[in-house]
Amino acid sequence: MQRDEPNSRVVALAGGVGGAKLAHGIALARSGEHLSVVVNTADDFTLFGLHISPDLDTVMYTLAGLANPETGWGIAGDSFVTLDMIKGYDRDTWFWLGDKDFATHILRTERLRSGATLTDVTVELAEALGITAQLLPMCDEPVATLVETPDGLLEFQDYFVRRQHADDVLGVQFEGIGATTIPERVSDAVDDANIMVLCPSNPIVSTGPILAIPGLRDRLRQLTMPIVAVSPIIGGQALKGPADQMLATLGHEVSAAGVAELYKDFLTGMVIDSQDAHLAERITDLGIAVHVADTIMRTDDDRRVLAEETLIFAESLIVKPELA
Ligand code: GDP
Ligand code: CA
Repeated sequence: MQRDEPNSRVVALAGGVGGAKLAHGIALARSGEHLSVVVNTADDFTLFGLHISPDLDTVMYTLAGLANPETGWGIAGDSFVTLDMIKGYDRDTWFWLGDKDFATHILRTERLRSGATLTDVTVELAEALGITAQLLPMCDEPVATLVETPDGLLEFQDYFVRRQHADDVLGVQFEGIGATTIPERVSDAVDDANIMVLCPSNPIVSTGPILAIPGLRDRLRQLTMPIVAVSPIIGGQALKGPADQMLATLGHEVSAAGVAELYKDFLTGMVIDSQDAHLAERITDLGIAVHVADTIMRTDDDRRVLAEETLIFAESLIVKPELA
């Protein structure tokens, strides 16, 4: 359904599965052409010599309509013949990679080796899959999330996949972040947008690295466009993954209000779940406008409806020049 009023131009910040769902909803609610998605790359890593970008791939497959609906990551109906053969060579295969998924990593790695930036490759792959939204890595330089646990410092995928995020997280480090710069395309996407959306992603290890790119957070504090987050914590819990445990062991309140605290220096508005309506006043006390909605996205329609509500809420927060 086409809307009559001019479309807002949206820049979204996202991690993996939760972020991908809302980004997909925005593309469904409005149009991909009016959306840029800036994606966490701090959980990128190398496996079998291939550059793997788990969050970029999740968002890319979701926007392309290829994502596996059961897991939220990987490609629907993918086979695992290659991984089985690797297993046959007695290699440890703790990271699940489908055959079609391998194609993405092979081509990405080939282009990176020939000197392309991660931004170049990402744009090429997304365009080839027919994605109309602009898909952008948060930066082109390598960044690696390291997780401090009682058992020592772990690489992110070791913590997350191999050890199934069972360790207490005592701290996180984003190795390499100090040397990153905001890519030109990200900077342009922010300049061109009139709304920013922080998708419901892990605030520590997905949104966290994006906000840690030198200069980015300061830039957000100075923006005049509304910045609206959809809470990744519902009823004191994460829907999946370790966001709730991480917030707790890092000393944050495990609630939408706790997430609002983390973003309060730049956030204009927050969409919280109906279950959390009682937190609204505490969040508005932080100077953040609140919209209450059903924020659990089970179907494509849930994604579209939540995205539309989020955008209408954000649009209501745009400061009109004549009122400023
Ligand atoms: P990952 O990169 O795959 O770990 O996923 P994300 O970075 O996107 O973070 C997972 C977070 O997304 C968790 O806090 C979930 O509660 C949240 N999430 C996942 N699906 C939904 C959803 O449908 N609605 C909301 N509000 N949050 C969600
Ligand atoms: Ca991730």
